[in-house]
Amino acid sequence: MSFKAIQISKEEQGEQSVDVIQLTDADLMEGDVTVDVEATTVNYKDGLAITGRSPVVRHWPMVPGIDFAGVVAESSHAGFAKGDAVILNGWGVGETHWGGYAERARVKGDWLIKRPNGISAKQAMGIGTAGYTAMLCVMALERHGITPGDGPILVTGANGGVGSVAISVLGKLGYEVIASTGRPEEADFLKSLGASEIIDRAELSEKGRPLGKERWAGAVDAVGSHTLANAIAQTKYGGAVAACGLAQGFDLPATVMPFILRGIALLGVDSVMAPKALREEAWSRLAKDLDMGKLDALTTEIGFDDLIETANDIVEGKVRGRVVAMV
Ligand code: NDP
Repeated sequence: MSFKAIQISKEEQGEQSVDVIQLTDADLMEGDVTVDVEATTVNYKDGLAITGRSPVVRHWPMVPGIDFAGVVAESSHAGFAKGDAVILNGWGVGETHWGGYAERARVKGDWLIKRPNGISAKQAMGIGTAGYTAMLCVMALERHGITPGDGPILVTGANGGVGSVAISVLGKLGYEVIASTGRPEEADFLKSLGASEIIDRAELSEKGRPLGKERWAGAVDAVGSHTLANAIAQTKYGGAVAACGLAQGFDLPATVMPFILRGIALLGVDSVMAPKALREEAWSRLAKDLDMGKLDALTTEIGFDDLIETANDIVEGKVRGRVVAMV
């Protein structure tokens, strides 16, 4: 039986094309678990893959979609049986292994986790890799010992997927949140998620001083470049910055001054190859520490056929919060 999928192909001239095609199980890549995909989403990396703006795709042709939620259709993996509700994030899916923009996907069972009780397939993809990464950032700050009593937390790229989920989780955990955004018209939305102060991202996006006024106890940065450098330079003594993104740029034009004079820690956060135990912890924390009403408020549902256009929009910074496509 055939099923629908989006496929990115490379033309002879090096140009890439993106089409909706039909596949069969026999076309799928190797793996020990086949999943009926129920929901997928558009992350920034999916935008980079579909637009070809960065070399995210490293196997051609590619079914993009770095994450999905679904139900196991067939399994020869000891940990999963037909009917199990599962989530997949990362592991190179949508980059080197066919991903979630299809009605069916075949992957390694070791890459899957069971969908926690209390999170539907739609909510799992409302969270998606962006939201799960936001949780990893919050957990990294907690591991550093930062508590709500230490002072506010800066969240950059506030209207984006990582940012909006980070604000919601931090707000629920009792942190004061300073949201940095280029879309101040969304201030009410960001406050409804849990931000108490909104700052213009222009305050952080230009070259700044090596050390600034100590403004926040920690930061979740999805933006990189000067924004990350300024976030570090304005962190209070002993604080920490969790860095996970590069929406402004992958450079880090900083000095060592905040590290050697204020003992600031820079915490790198990777979701793609994160070990299974950490993933399971992050997803169970999301089930507990993310207000599902807020998640619904920051999630927009689109159709499968809208995925390509939305992938283009996300790299233009036009997507607010998170987007889910029911497959
Ligand atoms: P989104 O596109 O949803 O959000 C990014 C946000 O960054 C935008 O909404 C915008 O927020 C802000 N932004 C965009 N362009 C610029 C710019 N030029 N200067 C400053 N701010 C900008 O993406 P995601 O939230 O899904 O991902 C954010 C970043 O995190 C991406 O770089 C992504 O690749 C990375 N990421 C990394 C992961 C990892 O494993 N390390 C996993 C998931 C994501 P606003 O409009 O509020 O200013």
